Amino acid sequence: MSAPDFARHRLFVEPALSAAAILPLDRDQANYLLNVLRLRAGDTVLVFNGRDGEWLACLVPEGRKQASLEPVRQTKPQPPAPDLHYLFAPLKAARLDYMAQKAVEMGAGTLQPVLTRRTQVSRLNRERLRANAVEAAEQCGILSLPVIAPERPLEAALAELSPERLLVFCDEGMGQESPVAALAAREPAPLAVLIGPEGGFDEAERALIRARPNTLPVSLGPRILRADTAAVAALALVQAVLGDWPRG
Ligand code: SAH
Repeated sequence: MSAPDFARHRLFVEPALSAAAILPLDRDQANYLLNVLRLRAGDTVLVFNGRDGEWLACLVPEGRKQASLEPVRQTKPQPPAPDLHYLFAPLKAARLDYMAQKAVEMGAGTLQPVLTRRTQVSRLNRERLRANAVEAAEQCGILSLPVIAPERPLEAALAELSPERLLVFCDEGMGQESPVAALAAREPAPLAVLIGPEGGFDEAERALIRARPNTLPVSLGPRILRADTAAVAALALVQAVLGDWPRG
């Protein structure tokens, strides 16, 4: 994939993208382009909607607080959606914001919130999750947005995984074995990664997860990591050994 063009601001938009199909901007987007970035008529930005690739678009101001964008040409085709499923016990506000953004940057294609016994958050704000996913995509030049699945109890989330999907279970209670060796011994397969809550999994949950066929418990090293740290460590490990990072 050619490197993203970070010389221009990148903006996520909802509507379909095609040449000259004028994109009306909402007030926040218009304010940002006109008054924060201080762009003027004819200046260009890059827009994406997660479906139609990346487009160069021209700013059409309509007064001090309104503006539209006119798509000019497609600059990148829509890449295939990433397939990695990221299962996580929701965390409190800022840490969840961080975790959602990092999961998108690390290539998660599905964010699956999982409710475990020690999950601190009961009612999940999926709109906030989506906003974080959009922000990460805009900042990192990612053109696909993850599917944000409805939160599920642990057992249901496990049952919904297709059998051929390898579940990499980050188990803070397991002994010190090399996670690289454990992953490298596996054949390439559809992947899922599971990270528990700040309070960890309880013994019954660990037994339930390990009982699922095609589940690989891995250690993330000799120290207990905070869940949001574990997310980045685990996703880097999985992407590097079995995922979409370059190998060989
Ligand atoms: N409070 C718990 C730890 C929870 S850490 C305790 O003290 O035991 C939150 C999650 O991050 C864990 O459920 C696990 O999925 C992951 N994690 C953190 N450190 C890990 C490690 N060293 N090995 C494997 N998984 C780890």
